[in-house]
Amino acid sequence: MSARGGATRWLPLLVVVIAATAGFFWFGLFEQPDAHQIPPSAFEVRVRLSSLEDARPTKLVLRSEGGFELHLGDDSSSPGETLEGAALELRASVIDGATPTLAVLLPDARRAPRLHLRGRGESGEIRLGERRYAGALTIDIAGDYDPSTTGDTTYLRVTNTLGVETYLAGVIGPEISPRSAMAALEAQAIAARSYAAQRMAGTGLLFDTASSQVYRGLEALDRRVIEALRRTAGKILSMDGAKPLATFYHSTCGGHTAKGAEVFRGEADAIPGVASPDCEGTARYRWSYALSKEQSGKLVEYFGLGSRLIGLQAEKRDSASGRWVLIRVTGDVAERPIGWREWKIACGRTGAPVPNDFLWHDVSLVDGALAVNGGGFGHGVGMCQMCARRMGDRGASAQEILARFYPGAQIHKLSQESAR
Ligand SMILES: [Zn+2]
Repeated sequence: MSARGGATRWLPLLVVVIAATAGFFWFGLFEQPDAHQIPPSAFEVRVRLSSLEDARPTKLVLRSEGGFELHLGDDSSSPGETLEGAALELRASVIDGATPTLAVLLPDARRAPRLHLRGRGESGEIRLGERRYAGALTIDIAGDYDPSTTGDTTYLRVTNTLGVETYLAGVIGPEISPRSAMAALEAQAIAARSYAAQRMAGTGLLFDTASSQVYRGLEALDRRVIEALRRTAGKILSMDGAKPLATFYHSTCGGHTAKGAEVFRGEADAIPGVASPDCEGTARYRWSYALSKEQSGKLVEYFGLGSRLIGLQAEKRDSASGRWVLIRVTGDVAERPIGWREWKIACGRTGAPVPNDFLWHDVSLVDGALAVNGGGFGHGVGMCQMCARRMGDRGASAQEILARFYPGAQIHKLSQESAR
């Protein structure tokens, strides 16, 4: 009786101790890392938030705890003006006339073709919907205004300018799982940084979708990703020690990567195709792909070759992996070679399934119905992320991973001078 009474007396204390210990581990292990832990950046990137553009927004609500610093027009070097208020609503505005004036409309009725905003809160972040952005947001107007033909298709377009390391903190997580081995995360960080440096030196613009690198703002901050950035800060790949390498990468190679020069013209010329068996057994290593007679008929129609698919051959395969980079499509009316990207776009437009990849091993066509057994996921050029993860799990270093997919490239460290 007394022993039971004792246990009852100590039970609340025990619960408190267990809860406190659990809380300690919970916050210790899963605490959101701070943006201040991100290393300083050697250069800035400009990222068009193209994921917003599908919705063609004509109104945007931006939020920042401490208000905003605003610059109108193109001159963002002079001191900006302060806008009080934690929320700012912007609208696309058109003044009809002989030459219509397209502008971004501020709540105080001022208009500008382009404006730049920074957050004035302690974090300096700006919220846009569910996402948080560091650095500056440039808002301008895109689309056309022509009432006689297209009507009004104008919308607000947003571009985020920020330090490359902060950008990468938002890129690495969505691109490769933060639970990957540290060496795989480091290899991904160096590849993504090189890609960003190459794009900034070239077109001067990145996009937040898979067309360049998936970027969702600061929402994806992860402790292990930041650790990988700190270990590789400022490091890029280069063939000549000067120009950053266009480090294309993809999800799953299916056993062999493609020769860059034969999949992408020009900028991927330095990337050879290599045998890489480590992703064997992962989800997209092998798959089958099928189109019904109706679906293939619609594709043929889309390509302008008739309405029935009667033949399909590899016009050109990449010489390293055998990916079908050019496909000769024979319809009931005409035939012509179709590029792999055109095939993907056509599938999207006609409602047909899009193939994971063009590493097509066997293809059969029976009465218009297409069946393909193939492998891989993505374009096949450069680093295979699934192989990189497997190599990291087996103890390979980031240098060893990168050396497999970008042979001949050297790691080069940029100086880190600029602020975040
Ligand atoms: Zn692979």
